[in-house]
Amino acid sequence: MLIPSTISCGYCSYCRSGYTAQCDNANPNGPLAGTAFFGGPKDTGPFQGLQAQYARTPLAAASLVRLPDDIDDDRAILMSDIFPTGWFGAQLARVGLGDTVAVFGAGPVGQFAIASARLMGAGRIFAIDRLESRLAMARAQGAEPIDFDREDPVEALRTLTGGIGVDRVIDAVGVDAERADKGPAADGQQHEMFDTEVKEVAPEQAQSARDGQWKPGSGPTQAIQWAVKSVAKAGTIGVIGVYPPSLARFPLGEAMNRNLRIHMGNCNHRAILPELVRLVRNGSVDPIAILTQREPIMSAIDAYKAFDKRQPGWMKVKLEP
Ligand SMILES: [Zn+2]
Repeated sequence: MLIPSTISCGYCSYCRSGYTAQCDNANPNGPLAGTAFFGGPKDTGPFQGLQAQYARTPLAAASLVRLPDDIDDDRAILMSDIFPTGWFGAQLARVGLGDTVAVFGAGPVGQFAIASARLMGAGRIFAIDRLESRLAMARAQGAEPIDFDREDPVEALRTLTGGIGVDRVIDAVGVDAERADKGPAADGQQHEMFDTEVKEVAPEQAQSARDGQWKPGSGPTQAIQWAVKSVAKAGTIGVIGVYPPSLARFPLGEAMNRNLRIHMGNCNHRAILPELVRLVRNGSVDPIAILTQREPIMSAIDAYKAFDKRQPGWMKVKLEP
């Protein structure tokens, strides 16, 4: 069985419309308490994470997805959250036949957003990141890499699309975004704004980040700002990168004046998964290349550290019991 990372009942009006991440019944804190995740933040319900040998799954009859025997555990792990989230990003961005698509963030979810955009018929796909190993994997998938330390991604995307901008943008970064601090994209005038945002977003983490462990990105709205600037007039942006409720900044005026459409949210895993099971099974896509590390579960803490530090090649880790 596959356990989607969000929980849903299957019978409320939201679930029946495919918004399984907005289920009215899964979160014990009530219908307005938000998406119910395994291992999510406290507001999302009392559910423990699933990196364990055993787990109890609420609303199992509706939430779980039966997997055919020919999809193995390694592939199934990638399908419980990150593949459907990447797919959801491409869906939110309304990727269609021939579209030019920019994917901000070439981490594991970004890689699946690239794969999904390709499956939906995108004409050209651009991947924006600063880590060489991530850009190399994007290139291996047929995307055109843009390193934001070497070129201004907004300028590059406009140049590569004849001055138009891309039809669709997927923000697979969210609040972890790093500001451009070298190269032509660095904008000194924005430093103060980003500093303020970092404090708003995660005051505690910003202070306790001295050991080099997880900390908020240095430019929480850097990715969404680039997204709004690089999309074509009347283009569409899909936001799957996570933003906390404390972040209240968005370039509204710029988006409004260019007739942009912006869709965002937590992935409706349960609604999307049957289609992905079909695509993996019939060989349209094989998610396995994204799984780069296999570590024993007893080394989980070290594995998290390596991943948080964005060590080269650490795309996605499987913890083995
Ligand atoms: Zn429901």
